[in-house]
Amino acid sequence: MVDYHLHTPFCRHAAGPMEAYVEQAIRLGLQEICFTPHIPLPDFPRGDPNVRMRPEDIDRYWEALERLRGRYRQLAILAGVEADYYEGYEEYLRGFLARYPFDLVLMSVHFIRAWPGENWLFGFHFPHKPMACVYHEYLEEVKKGIRTGLYDCLAHLDLVKQPGQPLLDSNPQDVAEVIDLCAAAGMSVEVNTSGLRRPVREPYPSPGLLERIVRRGIPVVTGSDAHEPRLVAHAFAELERLFAGMPRLRRAFYRGRRMRMASTRDSEGPALLR
Ligand code: ZN
Ligand code: FE
Ligand code: FE
Ligand code: ZN
Repeated sequence: MVDYHLHTPFCRHAAGPMEAYVEQAIRLGLQEICFTPHIPLPDFPRGDPNVRMRPEDIDRYWEALERLRGRYRQLAILAGVEADYYEGYEEYLRGFLARYPFDLVLMSVHFIRAWPGENWLFGFHFPHKPMACVYHEYLEEVKKGIRTGLYDCLAHLDLVKQPGQPLLDSNPQDVAEVIDLCAAAGMSVEVNTSGLRRPVREPYPSPGLLERIVRRGIPVVTGSDAHEPRLVAHAFAELERLFAGMPRLRRAFYRGRRMRMASTRDSEGPALLR
């Protein structure tokens, strides 16, 4: 197992030193981890240099990775970033991502420009808007993000979902489009266990949605979205059980933003497919 979605103190809302995440991963026997701090977004309208990396942190992030790689040779430590898609930042993002040798760039939609207030996805309150409409607005942003071609992997695909209201029921067409766009872009999809810690009590994406993704031939990566060391690989045993019932599921692994794929049954280890 690998955990490709780990936060760092550079995010300013995650606890524990990077060493502690690494040591927890080693203790659990993971093969690879990827740190994915929230990308800096200068002049972001939400004005939150306090919940993400600052531009001046990026050099220190690379230094920390170098130090950890030197000290913990038994574990592959990848350099990633969780890059918000937020309309208007495409060119900034293109420039930023081109400047650094990342292994993996996760795409996330956490904020929606057209939404009022702080645009925060988790804070929505639309008493007179049908949920299908709220979901549609979210999924439209996801589609725009994928179409930029700037990303490797789609993180927490159905992050907007509310308990008992799966996206597949209300927005099957939007979901199908997102899956098609991912396939066309050569992106993988993350299976993120943080939903199991939230009221929805299921991973992102839900098992039903994951089934569609697998059937479409899109490979997946696993991520805990840990914001503290004890959550590294959180609920991965549950994912293993889920994956065991999906024989066609393939896993994606990354180095330098290039994907390798392996089926779960591949005992020989990942085959180089592209
Ligand atoms: Zn975070
Ligand atoms: Fe996120
Ligand atoms: Fe995250
Ligand atoms: Zn996340």
